[in-house]
Amino acid sequence: MSSSVSTETSMESSRATESNTAPGPILLLGAPGVGKGTQAKELVKLWSIPQISTGDLLRANVAEGTKLGRVAKEIMGRGELVPDSLVNEMVAVRLLEPDTARGYILDGFPRTLGQATWLDARLSAQIESLPLVAVSIQVNYNQLLRRITGRRNCPVCQTIYNVYMNPPKREGICDVEGAALIQRADDTEEVFKERMRAYTALTAPVVDHYRALGRFAEVDGDRPIAVIAAGIVAAAERLRHAA
Ligand code: AMP
Repeated sequence: MSSSVSTETSMESSRATESNTAPGPILLLGAPGVGKGTQAKELVKLWSIPQISTGDLLRANVAEGTKLGRVAKEIMGRGELVPDSLVNEMVAVRLLEPDTARGYILDGFPRTLGQATWLDARLSAQIESLPLVAVSIQVNYNQLLRRITGRRNCPVCQTIYNVYMNPPKREGICDVEGAALIQRADDTEEVFKERMRAYTALTAPVVDHYRALGRFAEVDGDRPIAVIAAGIVAAAERLRHAA
């Protein structure tokens, strides 16, 4: 009897601890190339919550040749944004997965005020228990251009390299997998310029939107990966306790 009571009590307290420490939804905002994907992977390791990258989900649809993928391919190739209705639906389906219960890292979403309004409405029901935190990563334009045009990805383990700043040991080969690295079709200078135009016109207002709501922090993205990650964690904790 006493052992079952103490088991229940300890289970309750571990549930309480878990819900107190649940990171909730974290939005990583910032221009193309600021390191949202890299930081999302760091936070996944620290918090054990999933990364939801709309760019990755769209690329998977393109690779699988789904109806969404066929529509998205052309748009992504031009560096423009995929329509809100399609992206929102894709995110809605992903958020139904049970691994999102303690929180998740949205990487590259929301990218328009329409997406932000949709997300806010969707999250309003759980705002007390799992309030969102928005973090904008800042890097200057010339640095972004080098990051984008130098970026190479491992198609197997998704490790991200940069031929200028973080090259693999053997040129063109993943250090971890030994796989041939690939360059994203939209990581050219020409498409980068269009992606920056889309960012300034459509996504910068999203940053202003979350700044005005107050659950918002800015971090300098031109520092070592671990330092930026520590800055994001500190900001998230501060904002969570301020809720
Ligand atoms: P990313 O991998 O985040 O740089 O996204 C690559 C491309 O996917 C973008 O340039 C857009 O064409 C598309 N994309 C990714 N996320 C979104 C989004 N939230 N809304 C609209 N288009 C998106």
